[in-house]
Amino acid sequence: MSGAPLLYFDNNATTRLDPRVLEAMLPFLGEEYGNPSSGCRLGKRAANAVKYAREQVAALLGCEPGEIVFTSGGTESDNAALAAALRLNPDRRHLVTTAVEHHAVLKPCEALAAQGCAVTHLGVDGEGRLDMSEVEHEIRPDTALLSVMAANNETGVLFPLAELAQLARAKGVFFHTDAVQAAGKVPLRASEMPVSYMSVSSHKIHGPKGVGALYVSRRTAWSPLLLGGGQERGRRAGTENVPGIVGFGKAAELAAASLEVGAAEVGALRDAFERGVRERIPGVHVHGGGASRLPNTSNLAFDGVEAESALLLLERAQVCASAGSACTAGSLQPSHVLRAMGHPRERVKASLRFSFSRFTTRAEIDRALEILPGVIARLRGEA
Ligand code: PLP
Repeated sequence: MSGAPLLYFDNNATTRLDPRVLEAMLPFLGEEYGNPSSGCRLGKRAANAVKYAREQVAALLGCEPGEIVFTSGGTESDNAALAAALRLNPDRRHLVTTAVEHHAVLKPCEALAAQGCAVTHLGVDGEGRLDMSEVEHEIRPDTALLSVMAANNETGVLFPLAELAQLARAKGVFFHTDAVQAAGKVPLRASEMPVSYMSVSSHKIHGPKGVGALYVSRRTAWSPLLLGGGQERGRRAGTENVPGIVGFGKAAELAAASLEVGAAEVGALRDAFERGVRERIPGVHVHGGGASRLPNTSNLAFDGVEAESALLLLERAQVCASAGSACTAGSLQPSHVLRAMGHPRERVKASLRFSFSRFTTRAEIDRALEILPGVIARLRGEA
């Protein structure tokens, strides 16, 4: 088995670097080592490379290059957006978010609550959807920010961004969206919606790790989290991660070029996977199956199975999937997302996430469909 090729179905955790991204980055890890802030020739070339990457990322998000602030990734972008909204609204001490956000939003909310802010966590229904009338009801005169993810990392469930953004604008509150999982998988027209801030991350779209961006609408004020040099027009201090930014730019360009076709192809593979699993294995539930979902994500519960044990057997068969989000994996914490959807503990602990990418092939899906029934049967004591 160990000689078999890896079946990598954990693309919501991270994605493989596209070889074309690596190629674009290599000069900036070698002879192109200039600092974009320095006036010498090398520095100017680095500054130009960052400028070009900003245009590439802006094209993916449907906004102006000047609205892109490069960061160290999704986590920093989320933290920076939350902090800015509160600093810019000193009289407003209330935040509205959802119970199913990534920890990169939930943990800063916890910290803000410890500092005296009030935080409302909106619940979701059994399919992972928000109730828009509840969102409206929970926004108060002292609400500084509404923060709702564009797509959930565990289930792929999509949230109605345009509607949420309109609501926030009507109520006069900032709107932040964590679009880390949505970017490159579904179209995002940031400029066409009254979104204040949007977080994205490079390593989820076949770019390098440790680099991301925050879209800051030109109609919205900004208050930086990191202070120091004047990089990013004073919006995020620190010498730019030039190779990372160049790689992110290339990854964004490639994602934009394959957005429609890629999404349809990966969606067809995901659907074939789910159909195949249901045909071969009884007692399977598709989480979020009744909601609009990202085309690449499949979160399945297998009755009577411990996800942790399933992962071990799958790993031995060279299948890489995950139980819940990568950040909680290993901690034996049942997924807060599936819990918020109202699923009982046993079902949550029986849940596996398979997430695909444009590198996933039909042959890999077929191979997984050969392996999975045996693994589940063995764990159910049937084989
Ligand atoms: N937000 C979501 C929805 C994510 O899925 C992730 C990563 O898993 C993050 C934020 C954090 O992004 P990064 O790993 O770039 O810090």
